[in-house]
Amino acid sequence: MSTHALRIGIIGCGGIGQDHARRLHYKLQGARVVALNDIDRAGTEAFNAAAGLGATVHDRYQDVIDSPEVDALLIASWGPAHEEQVLACIAAGKPVFCEKPLATSAAGALRIVEAEVRAGRPLVQVGFMRRYDAGYRQLKQTLKAGTIGEALMVHCAHRNPSVPDMYVDDMNITDTHVHEIDVLRWLLDDDYVTAQVVSGRRTRNAHNGLTDPIMVLLETRSGIRIDTEIFVSCRFGYDIQCHVVGETGVASLPEPMSVPLRSGGRQSTEILMDWKRRFIDSYDVELQEWLDDTRKGIVTGPTAWDGYFASATAEACVEARHSQRITPIRIADRPAFYGR
Ligand code: NAP
Repeated sequence: MSTHALRIGIIGCGGIGQDHARRLHYKLQGARVVALNDIDRAGTEAFNAAAGLGATVHDRYQDVIDSPEVDALLIASWGPAHEEQVLACIAAGKPVFCEKPLATSAAGALRIVEAEVRAGRPLVQVGFMRRYDAGYRQLKQTLKAGTIGEALMVHCAHRNPSVPDMYVDDMNITDTHVHEIDVLRWLLDDDYVTAQVVSGRRTRNAHNGLTDPIMVLLETRSGIRIDTEIFVSCRFGYDIQCHVVGETGVASLPEPMSVPLRSGGRQSTEILMDWKRRFIDSYDVELQEWLDDTRKGIVTGPTAWDGYFASATAEACVEARHSQRITPIRIADRPAFYGR
């Protein structure tokens, strides 16, 4: 690909689509946002003007993909639209960064995998940004260095202060836990084989009868046991915990940097209240690496295969929640195209 700034088309200009547009156009190196599409055309025109992008607003997402002005696509529409939009990018032979989920079903994600394999070159990256978080990267280095021996167990928590009314049961798996599903597989360099979901006493702060908290138990191919508490009405903050128990020690995800206070008769540090602040730096690293890789025609971030694996695991977790059984995670054969 040439050395000019990559010309990016964005499909889906809601919350994170707008953040990514500003990030790509103003903050990162080597990109310009030149085309936009969203169901809400008027809102997108207003955003385009307010952000000073000077992009062309298209009525149809296909026109953004087909535009000769567009080198690569970023999809941040709602999940159910991702599959057909990613498939259209592959059909056009254009690199695409798709926010999670890659598709809303494992079968849909597998169709994307198959289309990319047929295309014969890496085109798809999925927006699992935790792999770009400095803390998770340090944790991975620590495990790789063998400092705590082999990993045996992992204890995690994913806590949100609250969730909107539209958030219903199973989203704690498909929308929330899916981040742990991807990042822990990458962290441990291992695949999952079974899933179990348990719940007990519910918080009185959950809305609409949401089952909250829940605990997801995953078992990996090498026998590592992972438990993750997902508690989305915890009130006190956005709190991500990950502690890996090894043969000779425990390695923990570092807490976000915060000034320790001694004040008012207490010692304290801040607990962040939202995911955006918690992972703000990782979005920058994620998209800068995607831009750099796209110039080279490679994908080093989460691939379509990783997106498929996450969807298949989430599906098994949902099944496990409903059946209350330990559920096997059934995965298709991994195409040689995706390496190991
Ligand atoms: P959002 O604010 O609802 O934005 C989605 C936008 O896409 C809306 O403007 C929506 O229009 C539009 N849209 C829906 N269907 C479309 C279609 N077929 N073609 C074009 N545009 C379409 O949601 P969001 O929070 O930005 O989330 C967008 C995606 O990013 C979701 O898949 C979400 O899971 C993911 N996400 C990832 C992270 C992360 O940490 N990686 C964080 C946040 C979000 P209407 O509002 O008119 O329907």
